[in-house]
Amino acid sequence: MWGIRIIVALSAALSAPTIACADVITRLPTSENVIALTFDACEAGKPVAFDRALLDYLLDQRIPFTVFVTGRFVQTNTQDVTELSKLDFVEIENHSWNHPNNMDRLPLDVVRDEVTRGEAAITSAIGRKPQFFRFPAGNYNAAALAVVEGLGYKVVHWSWASGDPSPLESRDGLIRRVQTLTRPGQILIFHINGRGVHTAEALPVIVADLRKRGYRFAKLSDYLGAHPRGTAAQAHVVDRDREMLALKYFQQTAHAPRPSTAPAH
Ligand SMILES: [Zn+2]
Repeated sequence: MWGIRIIVALSAALSAPTIACADVITRLPTSENVIALTFDACEAGKPVAFDRALLDYLLDQRIPFTVFVTGRFVQTNTQDVTELSKLDFVEIENHSWNHPNNMDRLPLDVVRDEVTRGEAAITSAIGRKPQFFRFPAGNYNAAALAVVEGLGYKVVHWSWASGDPSPLESRDGLIRRVQTLTRPGQILIFHINGRGVHTAEALPVIVADLRKRGYRFAKLSDYLGAHPRGTAAQAHVVDRDREMLALKYFQQTAHAPRPSTAPAH
């Protein structure tokens, strides 16, 4: 009798329509002087690649950062993504399969498909399942959010838009905006797929300025999730040889021919 009751209670819990949605995360839960630098690598139709000036700067300085990639971007840049995932200061997360800018208006089975196809591409490239999702163009509704959270994700957007894809935004304008708006615990967003018009030129100045103001940089998982490499104890065991080989790969491919980094959309 008790067994049956437990089964009934369990199946009711499992088939409950939706657990209340958490909010979309737009900052780290801390008042420390820490900033999460996040970069989107969006690809929809046209093949695009990493903005190498920007990526090489981040790698050279070993600045912790998080990249949100679409499945299509992973398909075009599989080896780059695989090598990046070997670096302990970098994390790769899910930005959908094909970057539909209207996930708030898509049927929920299509929403689910966008997330799981992106996830499959990422998982096969990096050997682990992503834990954060970012809606393309930031467009979502409660139903789409529930679907994504139901798939085990935390949805992470940004504290305020840097505006780096705007052709009207100058290098100095971008630097000034970040200087003026940044506060402790914020999540900053830029583009690393060539859509950031002046990001590669501005970021070294931005990083130097934030450091001077006492900020340090963290990955999202440092504050928001499970460490991708397992328990806290395991997280401290970093394979330095593997990291060195991955960094060497990026040094050797710095000038290799790649798909155009012109804007995809
Ligand atoms: Zn995007």
